Amino acid sequence: MAQYGSEVFHNYDKPHHFNKKGIASSKTVTEASREIKVIRETDVIVVGGGPGGIAAAVSAARGGADTILLERYGHLGGMATGGLVNIIPNLGDIYGEQYIGGFCQEVIDRLAAREAACFPERRFWGKGEPLVVEKYLKANMMHFYIRKNHEDKYVVLYTAVIDPEIAKDEMNTMVTEAGAELLLHTWVTEPIMEGNSVKGVIVESKAGRQALLGKVVIDCTGDGDLLPGTGTETVDYMVPGSRIAQFGFVYWICNVDLEKYDDFVNTQPEKYKEITREITKLGGSAFFSRGLLDHQEGVVWVHRLIGSLHQTDPEEMTYIDTMTRKQSVRSWELLKKYMPGFEKSFIMLSAPQLGTSGGRRIVGEYFLTGKDMDTDRPFEDTIAIFPDNDRGEKSLKYPRTYIPYRALVPKETEGLLVACRAFSADHEFSEFFNLIPHCMCFGQAAGAAAAIAVKEGVNVRNVNYAALREQLLKYGAILP
Ligand SMILES: Cc1cc2nc3c(=O)[nH]c(=O)nc-3n(C[C@H](O)[C@H](O)[C@H](O)COP(=O)(O)OP(=O)(O)OC[C@H]3O[C@@H](n4cnc5c(N)ncnc54)[C@H](O)[C@@H]3O)c2cc1C
Repeated sequence: MAQYGSEVFHNYDKPHHFNKKGIASSKTVTEASREIKVIRETDVIVVGGGPGGIAAAVSAARGGADTILLERYGHLGGMATGGLVNIIPNLGDIYGEQYIGGFCQEVIDRLAAREAACFPERRFWGKGEPLVVEKYLKANMMHFYIRKNHEDKYVVLYTAVIDPEIAKDEMNTMVTEAGAELLLHTWVTEPIMEGNSVKGVIVESKAGRQALLGKVVIDCTGDGDLLPGTGTETVDYMVPGSRIAQFGFVYWICNVDLEKYDDFVNTQPEKYKEITREITKLGGSAFFSRGLLDHQEGVVWVHRLIGSLHQTDPEEMTYIDTMTRKQSVRSWELLKKYMPGFEKSFIMLSAPQLGTSGGRRIVGEYFLTGKDMDTDRPFEDTIAIFPDNDRGEKSLKYPRTYIPYRALVPKETEGLLVACRAFSADHEFSEFFNLIPHCMCFGQAAGAAAAIAVKEGVNVRNVNYAALREQLLKYGAILP
């Protein structure tokens, strides 16, 4: 199976075929129409508490809007916590210049203050300090931390890693401290529409089926769950074997004696290769990354990527989850049996959520495509600058990419913003710019815009960009 490569994309696992039942009956039932309780009437409803959603809720509430954040699980953070993909990469470019600040930086600062975020010291960003470079190469984390510069020399990027458990707690605090209401364990099923305007959402929970009404709804579900119900145009094309066409199954193995493992690899390289081959032959994988949280000793991380083109199909998700869990446990059993250093290890945790990377995306007021990466020109409504570090030669030529506010605004639907990986972009653009820090930037901008729209009594489509820019700068965003 392909692993991440710093400059190699479209080389991941291919979609899997399995015995899908699909809709196995020709019958239909008619749902009885019924009145349901409206549990809140509010300014801003944020749906989904992942990186996009927490940023949107905090930003809208800080902007003075009455805000509620709805999340289906019992914790915030989405993939960044529940998916155990807790690395926040590409905050700066290969020259050491930071471009992603604001909410994302605040999360890192708050976690660092609790010794729950680690990153290379600022003095190393954009530099080739051998000890630091070696640390990330040895950890199998080159793709997140190391790039080659114009002189073909390795340099270190500004990338942070966060402790997902402390992050869950800190994110709850950030949301409630900002004045937003938080409602967990609540699955949002569809938008409430009046013509082409979103007026609220329907939710399902242990309390039954209920409704919330809001002036602005922000879809931060990652998969764009509200979009089908709005009738807005969407795309979902992904290249088979591309990064976004992958599910992720992540687990952590602890109690590994890494000193013993290193000693074995260095003193008996041929024997090490033999064991690795044997593990593969017996149906496992010996590949892992070293955990980079300073307070974790003897913990290794395994990120299994599994190709897919349908990341919202529960039948496929069930197949992937059960198949990959079996393979993952098998891999650990083989490591424990054969690999020196793993004798006393055990699986500490597998991610509570199956990782999803791609899915539905809106066709917004502006549709970002591959061409928008190959330019150095900001938009007149730029809400974020993303360091472009992952495209090899092209990144050296175009080290920054700009995001317009219009990429969060659906073309045909009113009262709705999209601030997650379902933002308006083609598969090529999404491949590089739908990660945690990017979604936090979308969320921060959408929340700020929603609060301005409510205050000014205008549609989110018509928010004054100068006012939005001023607010984003106040929030610490780095803009042209
Ligand atoms: C294997 C893998 C590894 C990755 N590694 C990294 C990495 O190291 N660094 C990085 O930056 N990015 C990584 N990514 C990508 C990153 O995880 C996502 O792009 C990012 O989390 C997207 O944020 P989001 O807010 O759009 O969505 P998500 O993180 O998916 O959050 C969506 C939130 O909405 C909630 N939700 C969804 N639907 C509903 C609903 N109907 N009702 C209520 N709540 C709902 C979810 O529970 C979740 O909390 C990885 C992805 C995968 C699959």
